[in-house]
Amino acid sequence: MPRIRKPVVPGWFTQDTGDFRLLGTRCRSCGSVFFPREDVFCRNPGCAGDDLEEVPLSRHGTVWSYTDGRYRPPAPYVSDPDTEWRPYTLVAVELVAERMVVLGQAAPGVGVADLAVGAEVELVPGILNEDAEHTWTTWHWRPVTTAPGPETTA
Ligand SMILES: [Zn+2]
Repeated sequence: MPRIRKPVVPGWFTQDTGDFRLLGTRCRSCGSVFFPREDVFCRNPGCAGDDLEEVPLSRHGTVWSYTDGRYRPPAPYVSDPDTEWRPYTLVAVELVAERMVVLGQAAPGVGVADLAVGAEVELVPGILNEDAEHTWTTWHWRPVTTAPGPETTA
């Protein structure tokens, strides 16, 4: 039986892989953008707004910082203790238009040697993990390569 694809956090990103985006919210009073989304009140201390609209965030950003996880995190992180630990790469990405930094894992196969502060990255759909019934989807950041060649998207 095929696994059901489910977002690891509902409402944080689109399910449309054609125009895959993180979803934040924007205050209609002051224009502040929030991610993770804020749906109740504006967190700008100088604003009393409470009307927030959902907005797709920029697909491209620049690397603000990065590191890799070489140790298995404790629960509730999901991993199989019987399998060999494979390091993953975390990237903090600055979105210029939204004036914010968003964390995420780098796409599979991307290590710290492939990243540099200031380098352009793009948002791509990713898989966090799979269990018997579900494929848990998330977002990944992938370096934008300027080299010519066939471009494929997941
Ligand atoms: Zn506001």
